[in-house]
Amino acid sequence: MKFTVLTLFPEIFDGFLESSILGRARRSGRVAVELVQLRDFATDRHRSCDDYPYGGGAGMVLRPEPLAAALSSLDAAHRWTVYLSPGGRLLNQAIVQDYAQRESVLLIAGRYEGIDQRIIDAYVDEELSIGDYVLGGGEVPAMVVIEAVARVVDGVINRESLRDESFADNLLEYPHYTRPEEFDGQRVPEVLLSGNHARIDEWRHRQRLLKTRCRRPDLLTTEEQT
Ligand code: SAM
Repeated sequence: MKFTVLTLFPEIFDGFLESSILGRARRSGRVAVELVQLRDFATDRHRSCDDYPYGGGAGMVLRPEPLAAALSSLDAAHRWTVYLSPGGRLLNQAIVQDYAQRESVLLIAGRYEGIDQRIIDAYVDEELSIGDYVLGGGEVPAMVVIEAVARVVDGVINRESLRDESFADNLLEYPHYTRPEEFDGQRVPEVLLSGNHARIDEWRHRQRLLKTRCRRPDLLTTEEQT
């Protein structure tokens, strides 16, 4: 699975790409991340990538020419091309799973007021938001997408770890406990110390249902809500 990120600030990804699960996934060759500097496609003397918005108003807009040149050179027409935008479809685990099945995903990180609409109309397959708030740029959203997708790519994490995670089967995860058995007067639930795996599985499933009903009833089917 390969990600390409088109950005004015590739240095933001330093550290992120080397560390933890994603670092391992890249070293094993299961996930590749290519960073492309948008400014390399600017042709004017100052290598400028932004300009004032038609119609006036605050802020700058990323110009279409460098974006078009970059996207053509990256073969956007034959790749799933995503513009990260607060106005896009809200990211969720189903989209994450869908992206993990793709051979490659091309992410466009906007800056300033965003990118020229004609680029969206001509090159973008999907606009994607990571939440109902506005960030300064698409780099952090790109990292969110890459990290969420990389961990569900085959072979990156063992299947069992992913099985009961939040959003698998539309449920949130059960609570976790580790040593010591008693901490600050609070004991680990007895069932988890029982060694009875059938009872533990049952308890965990019940906890998942209770937590989801309480916090995220919107995830449940009508039957599960009652
Ligand atoms: N003017 C835009 C608006 O009101 O929708 C916000 C532009 S924002 C300051 C600059 C860039 O950050 C956007 O082009 C987008 O790439 C990225 N961005 C900001 N918030 C985002 C979010 N919630 N999800 C995805 N991308 C986001």
